[in-house]
Amino acid sequence: MFAVDISTAVLIYLSVTLLGVIFIWVRFERSRAFRKYDVHPKEVWNCEICTYTYVDSLHQTLSRCPQCKSWNRRTVS
Ligand SMILES: [Zn+2]
Repeated sequence: MFAVDISTAVLIYLSVTLLGVIFIWVRFERSRAFRKYDVHPKEVWNCEICTYTYVDSLHQTLSRCPQCKSWNRRTVS
């Protein structure tokens, strides 16, 4: 066994603890960020008039374009 003085032991302990916290934090934030922007393909609309692509998760068959205010009908079921 190698000899370690108390300051080196505290430094190793704090470094390992800090790296563990950073690792868990990054994993948590990454999973939460991807879940926040996870959009179902049926919620993505393409406007037939202005070709604007937008997300509308409230309507299933008829949606209003936020850009040009025209109505778009879902053609593919
Ligand atoms: Zn439009």
